[in-house]
This record gives sequence, C-alpha cells and structure tokens, in this order.
Amino acid sequence: MLITHLLLAALTYISPVKYEVSLAGNFGEPRPNHFHGGVDVKTQRVEGKPIHAVAEGYVSRVTVSQTGYGNSVYVRHPDGHTTVYAHLQRFSPAIEAKVKKWQYAHHKWEADVTFRATDVPVSKGQVIALSGNTGSSMGPHLHLEVHETDSWDMYDPLGFIPSLVNDHKAPETHAFMAYPMPGKGVFCGRTAKMKFKPAELDSLRLEAWGEVGFGIHADDYMEDSPNYYGVRRTVLNVDDKEVFRSDVNGIPFQTNRMVNSWGDYDEFSKNKHWFMKSFIEPGNQLPVLHADGRRGVVLFDQERDYHIRYELSDYYGNISTCRFVVRGRRMEIPQRKLDPGDVILDHNAEKYETDGFKMILPSGALADDVVLHPVDSAGIYSRSYHMASKSLPLIVPAQISIRLGKEVSDVNKLFIASDGKFTGGKFNEGWVEAHVYDIGKKLTVGYDDIPPVIERVNDDRPTVIILEVKDADTGIESIDAAVDGQFVLFAPIGRSSRYICNLKNTPVKPTSSVRTLQFMACDKRGNQCAYQTKIKY
Ligand SMILES: [Zn+2]
Repeated sequence: MLITHLLLAALTYISPVKYEVSLAGNFGEPRPNHFHGGVDVKTQRVEGKPIHAVAEGYVSRVTVSQTGYGNSVYVRHPDGHTTVYAHLQRFSPAIEAKVKKWQYAHHKWEADVTFRATDVPVSKGQVIALSGNTGSSMGPHLHLEVHETDSWDMYDPLGFIPSLVNDHKAPETHAFMAYPMPGKGVFCGRTAKMKFKPAELDSLRLEAWGEVGFGIHADDYMEDSPNYYGVRRTVLNVDDKEVFRSDVNGIPFQTNRMVNSWGDYDEFSKNKHWFMKSFIEPGNQLPVLHADGRRGVVLFDQERDYHIRYELSDYYGNISTCRFVVRGRRMEIPQRKLDPGDVILDHNAEKYETDGFKMILPSGALADDVVLHPVDSAGIYSRSYHMASKSLPLIVPAQISIRLGKEVSDVNKLFIASDGKFTGGKFNEGWVEAHVYDIGKKLTVGYDDIPPVIERVNDDRPTVIILEVKDADTGIESIDAAVDGQFVLFAPIGRSSRYICNLKNTPVKPTSSVRTLQFMACDKRGNQCAYQTKIKY
C-alpha cells in the first residue's frame, strides 16, 4: 500500500466551503453500529452553501436517498483517495441533468449512479453541489468523508485538510469504568462494573484482585464551538508500561459494527455516554486498537500499588493526562453468577436452538461471550422469542428461523418482525428465516397481505400533484407513475410519506386537455395499490 501511495500524485486539499469552519462532529466519533465516518462541517444553520471539490478529480458516484447520505457526491482523486459529500440540497446543473436522466431511464427516484472518469471531471475548488439537510441528517450541515479508493478504509479528513479548523484544546476525561472480568476479577469488592470520576479519586480507595479491564468516558473540544468530539488517541499505561492504545484513523469500512464492542454499548443504551474500553474483547478485530498480550486487561496479582495513567490526545497533538492508583489486595474471586434460565453463549458459538427457534451465528458475529435469558410467548403467526432483556448487537448478522404456527393462504406474505418492525425474511419448509443484527430484540413471524393506501393531497398549483402513500405493516418498496402511459417522476417530500410531482418538470407536454394520471405503490411483501385520477394539463 505504501508503494502505491508513493507512486501516486501528491495532492493538496482545500476546504469544501468558502468561510471559516467549525465542526458539529469529528471523524471516528462512536455511534451505535458505526464510527462517524467523516467530519460534519457546519453550514451557518442554513442550506444552499456552495460546496467545492477539495481536490481535482472526477465525480465517480452520486446517490439520491430519503435516508442515509441523502443526496451525495463522490469525487475520485488521482492520489488514490475518494472524498464524499453528503446530505446535499442539490447537485451542480451538470450532475443534476445526468441524475435526472438516470431516474427517467430506471423509473426510479432513489438513485445510485456511477460515472466514468470523462463524464464529470472536476478541478480543485469547483462547485459540485449546494449544502443541505437530506437523508438521515438532523440539521443543515455538510458531512465530508475521505476514503482510500481501493480498500474503502475511512480516514480522518483533518489529516488531508489540517487548516480546516483551529484546535488548541485537549480532550477531557469525564469518568472511568472498571470492568472485573466475569469469574476472574474483583474491583472494590464487586464483580459488577464500577464507574468513578476524576474528582472522586482523592476520596476513593480503589482496590482490585485478578483480571480487571478499564474504560474511559472522554470528549475532545475545539475553540469557537460548543460541540464535543470523539477522542483521536487514548493510551493506557500501568506502572509506566503501555498496555493499550487506540488511534482512530484508517478504519476498514466492514469493521464499523465493532464499535459496539470497543464502546460499552449497554452503558450507552442506558445513559447515552460512550465508555471506550481500554482492552480488546476476544472477537474484536478493529485495527485501530493495540494492546499487550493480555488484550489490555490488567492482572492484579501482587499486593502493591498499581499506577494507572491515561494519556488522551487529538489530531493536532493537544494532550491531557489522568492518573490514579489501584491497590492490589488479595481477595476471594467469586464465580460468575447466573440467574435461573440464563445461558452463556460463547463468542465462538455457531448456533443456538430452542423449540421453534433456531439461530445460526457466522464466525465473527460476537466479540465476546454474552448471557442469554431466552423467553417465549404466544403470538399470532408463531411464538415470539426474546433471547435477552437488552439489545445484543452482532458484528455479522445471524440467520434466525422461527417455526410458523398458523396456516396462511400465501407464504410469500410472511416476514420476521424484530421489536415489531419488518426485517425481511422468507418461508422455508414450515419455518420463516431472516438475518438479524440484534439478537436481543423480540422476534416473531408477521404477515402482510394489506396493500398500501394512496390519497391525493390538494395543492393550489395546477401543475403540481401531491400524494400521500402509506403502508402499515412492511413499508413502501417501490412506486411508479405515468400520465397517459408516459412515465413521470415523483419524489418524496423530505422524510415524509408524501410524494410530489410538478408536471412542468417532466417530459409530458401540456395540452390543456383532460389526462389520466396513474400511480402505483407496492409494499415490501408485494401488495400493490393502483390509484388513478383525471387531471387537466
Ligand atoms: Zn456526519
């Protein structure tokens, strides 16, 4: 990889916007199921800011979606990197025209268009789009990513545009967590994890015996911004020997879900704070984590003081340190305590079965052993299965099968519901099978033979048609529309269930006569609803 980089042209990158920038989010911040893959550049609380290509290259891909990145542009650069600009309001006219052509050719608004190098070349600083708030965005901003083009590994954009922000503030530690290893360690006389704050260190007497891991809740800060950010580097030293180090950069895209193992997912679900562990769970392959032979878990096997020192730093090298002392004191290590009905699922387990429920776990699905507490209850189309009382996210999805408990007229309408939500699936010899990412949710078989409902919403503009399209059980899979048999593109309004079409922006020529508008919606189990109305255009 290094040689490739030396051979490729060196490029300098510039800011994607023409004003002073502060960030609403930085690269690598932990989020449920993924690392934040880029930086969130504030757009002065409004949409419509011109977005410039950060370096020369060509537009290689454009997406249009109601979720995720929304409207996004990918620019491929000659140095082996690709930059991604997401949540855009609209594209440059050249890109917009090509996207519209694709949408009409595919009879589809949601688009994923790939381009050749000669289609839309861009120079450094060229305006490629206007900023927006599309897709899964909580407010106007630009989400900017940098990837290595071949591997699609995610890189900190600050490494490419260091002058983007001013930052002389070091990260701050809010709290620590001690994690006694089940059946192998105790901390302050307890086998449960224990939280403590830097301000409490003087008054606390910390004692441990056996194997104990540590974690830290910390945030980074930058001047001129009230926001807080993820911490680029953490180092844990015990008695001046490094036992763990994290450096959040160059994250392989497919390891994103391992964030749930590095971070304390359970704690985040309850208290909305990410405690990042300073030890590596046995199945966690994240290359940004480095530890000693004990995976970063500290062994307290001598009756003496252990000196713990944390060092945290950001991209710009602003450093903060935190120290505390843990006294090694010999004590009884209790066996792992299980409640009646609890089952330990080993992190290497390949399957789990109970009557009417099967689960196949591919290798690498679990980062660590988990405790299941399987409970089943009556349901309409099958029994409902709840494997744990809390969320248990997987790195790779498990295949689950639930035995169908009721005769149905069309097996193609069956699906698996996870906490009541459609999650796909298909019927196979008396069972319904699906892939799920969270085995802690309530899983049951659902059935949908009810088509979507379509309703006209009035609009004062004579050429504009707005329709409300709803589907109760599984959601809308596709829509199609035509005027006198000629395809017209309807676009969803924001993230709502309404679709809009301005006939002036379609290839249909006005005639001032009465025409037939046909609109068809299909849900995720193939149930269709056709709507027809007369329009004067
Ligand atoms: Zn973002």
